[in-house]
Amino acid sequence: MVILVYLEYRRGNIAGSSLQVLAKAYELSREGRHEVCAAVIGRDVQQAASQLTGLPITKAYLYEADDLFSADLYSEIFTRCIAKLSPSVVLIGGTKEGKSLSSRTAAMLKTGVTVDCTDVRLRGRDELVQIRPAYGGNVIAQIVTEKQRPQIAVLTDSIMPPVKRSSMLSPATVLSREYASAASAVKLIERRELPKVKRISSYDVIVAAGRGVKRKEDLVMLEALARKLGGGLGATRGLVERGWMPHARQIGLSGHSIRVKLLIACGLSGTVQFMAGVRRADCVIAVNSDESAGIFQWADYGFCGDLQVLLPMLLEKMENPA
Ligand SMILES: Cc1cc2nc3c(=O)[nH]c(=O)nc-3n(C[C@H](O)[C@H](O)[C@H](O)COP(=O)(O)OP(=O)(O)OC[C@H]3O[C@@H](n4cnc5c(N)ncnc54)[C@H](O)[C@@H]3O)c2cc1C
Repeated sequence: MVILVYLEYRRGNIAGSSLQVLAKAYELSREGRHEVCAAVIGRDVQQAASQLTGLPITKAYLYEADDLFSADLYSEIFTRCIAKLSPSVVLIGGTKEGKSLSSRTAAMLKTGVTVDCTDVRLRGRDELVQIRPAYGGNVIAQIVTEKQRPQIAVLTDSIMPPVKRSSMLSPATVLSREYASAASAVKLIERRELPKVKRISSYDVIVAAGRGVKRKEDLVMLEALARKLGGGLGATRGLVERGWMPHARQIGLSGHSIRVKLLIACGLSGTVQFMAGVRRADCVIAVNSDESAGIFQWADYGFCGDLQVLLPMLLEKMENPA
């Protein structure tokens, strides 16, 4: 059985999120000696071949196309690749590009797609069980595409650590360097650089703020704590809805997934929807004024009290440890 992974390729680099998806594909492949193949679409895509060294891919299909992702063009190319390879399983990272590509591709192939999968596993000969929260996160659904193939799953960020390169693996065979003849209906008029913002999922340490933060100015204190620890500031949906934090910083079911060494949860209750975004946290510290708050069930260390009192004390202690 073939598992095809879409490797996002921008400005000469394979995206970190794709390497997480590849790690999952590799894990699945080892269960039944399945073959992992990859598709890469982008500009100067031949250069991607050198980046495949040491990755657990047997065959890679490279397609030259404009660097600007266009859903119609990319999904047409990707559909062609799938038609050529007939994979049973297609795995894609849950970025904006991945979600857009997956839905169009699934529609063109008249097959199913499950987005926001928090896990996938194989059952029987080639059935992919696609696991994701449903009904507002209150249910963990197991979804299967019974008859149609391929089975397309879009995986959430941080599903696995990125795949490790190994010198023991034979290099991928770059089978095809087809150049896309398909044309996009989207015409590029102007290209503008957006300021680079570090993704919340890229931090090892996160201070997460919830509705217990009563004034927007208090976020400065939490940001300071995050910075001191070399981390970033995240938030629950409650604060994003207030307009105090951008959606890019929202952790959870309808936000972003994180995989951290340390999570400091400040004034948040630990709802299932928030915790659905916490893929792994080696250590959770919770600060909450309500001793029955759900977050304490997840916490390794819990501080019951007002964060407006506790956090300045903690910051002061960090400044002057003696
Ligand atoms: C389909 C769907 C998707 C959703 N997706 C997400 C998502 O992606 N992410 C997300 O976060 N939510 C999501 N939600 C919303 C979620 O259900 C909760 O509303 C949200 O997580 C609550 O955020 P909170 O913990 O900040 O607020 P609350 O649940 O109100 O908790 C606030 C906490 O602060 C404590 N507190 C109050 N004052 C203080 C103080 N002075 N000091 C210390 N502690 C204090 C309180 O005791 C309380 O525990 C989703 C909901 C739905 C239906």
